Amino acid sequence: MASPMSASRFLDVLRDEGINVVQVGDWRTHNRNHKGPWGPVHGVMIHHTVTSGTSKTVRICRDGYPGLPGPLCHGVIAKSGSIHLVGYGRANHAGPGDDDVLRAVIAERALPRDNESNTDGNRHFYGFECENLGDGKDPWPEAQLEAIERAAAAVCRHHGWNSRSVIGHLEWQPGKIDPRGFSMNTMRARIQDRLA
Ligand SMILES: [Zn+2]
Repeated sequence: MASPMSASRFLDVLRDEGINVVQVGDWRTHNRNHKGPWGPVHGVMIHHTVTSGTSKTVRICRDGYPGLPGPLCHGVIAKSGSIHLVGYGRANHAGPGDDDVLRAVIAERALPRDNESNTDGNRHFYGFECENLGDGKDPWPEAQLEAIERAAAAVCRHHGWNSRSVIGHLEWQPGKIDPRGFSMNTMRARIQDRLA
């Protein structure tokens, strides 16, 4: 049972992990808390945006689009490796997912395959959206992969979690494919090395 860290603490832990952080507008209070609970938090979820261009990507993740109001995550991880904070609190990123996966994340066990969408993920996960087209061709620069590793590690370090608390959207909700272009197992190994 972990309470979400404060917005100020979130900013601090990301900076302490060596990340170049960009604060966007009123990110500390931009959220969907009026639509449902935020917390307890159990993990970190990684996504790709299916967009290109950092300014456009950040704008969409902050504002959302018709049918899916923003924020669509907490931090946008640009190809440069900079992280743009667009919201804090409940955000529209995880959607409904598999309660068996959530139990595995809480226990930091190997993940079962996701085959149900019966549990509110927006309540329980920090979310990072990564600027990528998600077509399997758009490259993932090393600076961006390193920022993913650092951001996830920063959150895990604060909560005392290990890398099994970090999952991809594709491991949460049946039908999702993000992030595409690197393996979450490889990323978890990098995060674990950083935390060791
Ligand atoms: Zn996603």
